[in-house]
Amino acid sequence: MDDSQRVSILSEALPYIQSFSGRKIVIKYGGSVMEEDKLQKAFFRDIALLATVGVCPVVIHGGGPEINSWLNKLEISPKFENGLRVTDQKTMDIVEMVLMGRVNKQIVRGINKTGSLAVGISGLDGNLIQSRELGDGSHGLVGEVTKINPELLEPLISKGYIPVISSIGSTSDGISHNINADFVAGELAAAINAEKLILLTDTPGILEKKGVTGSLIKQINLKEARGFIDKEIVTEGMRPKTECCIRALAQGVKAAHIIDGRIEHALLLEIFTNAGKGTMITA
Ligand code: ADP
Ligand code: MG
Repeated sequence: MDDSQRVSILSEALPYIQSFSGRKIVIKYGGSVMEEDKLQKAFFRDIALLATVGVCPVVIHGGGPEINSWLNKLEISPKFENGLRVTDQKTMDIVEMVLMGRVNKQIVRGINKTGSLAVGISGLDGNLIQSRELGDGSHGLVGEVTKINPELLEPLISKGYIPVISSIGSTSDGISHNINADFVAGELAAAINAEKLILLTDTPGILEKKGVTGSLIKQINLKEARGFIDKEIVTEGMRPKTECCIRALAQGVKAAHIIDGRIEHALLLEIFTNAGKGTMITA
């Protein structure tokens, strides 16, 4: 790339920077981005760049691979149902330690190293995420969001800190729940009137034919997204993702994106370029 190309890329980003400056963007960090060193570093730089140009990123993370690896070390086998983890108390203890401790602080450290400043919190802090047992309780200590109390975030965001939130919620009697980070991101985006919700994952986006990269759906509306769920085009882990995009859009978020975290700087490509890379769902 020569200098004139570099400059024209910067220039292409200008209208996006202007329209998103001062706006909140909720980003769910997950999948292979979390595992690969090079992708992680690029992600942290992307977050720092967003914050530096005046966009207010809020990061929500799960802990997928890291949780499984600690459960393996402790010989507790992970269980899944409809793409969601089944969590008993023993598993929950590990989930809390890994998510609120190791994973959360690793993200904070990574962002801080770029020169921007992150603050790591969980859904317990400031009662940010209130939860109850999901459905009929068959997933154990897996929760669903009942209420978001975003007051804690405002002073952080207005001082320029980047909130990094682990997807654990609590009942009013202090029972912790492990919540799918996609759901938390969707509800949080709605609660803070975010401009965008962005979910990073391990596929190019929503694929019309499972496993076929060329069948990527670039843009759909809320109704079409519902149709994809009904027709079971979207299944497994993509289902909760699509559902939470729909819920966020129905509550006023302008656009939801499902993007490929395996592409370096996927986040910047999606936010600051004309083409975008993944699936964009609009109201
Ligand atoms: P994450 O760890 O990012 O939450 P998940 O594994 O939970 O990712 O969800 C993404 C997975 O959903 C994909 O890897 C794929 O196997 C599955 N999936 C099901 N239906 C689709 C679809 N229509 N398009 C893309 N992925 C799909
Ligand atoms: Mg998932």
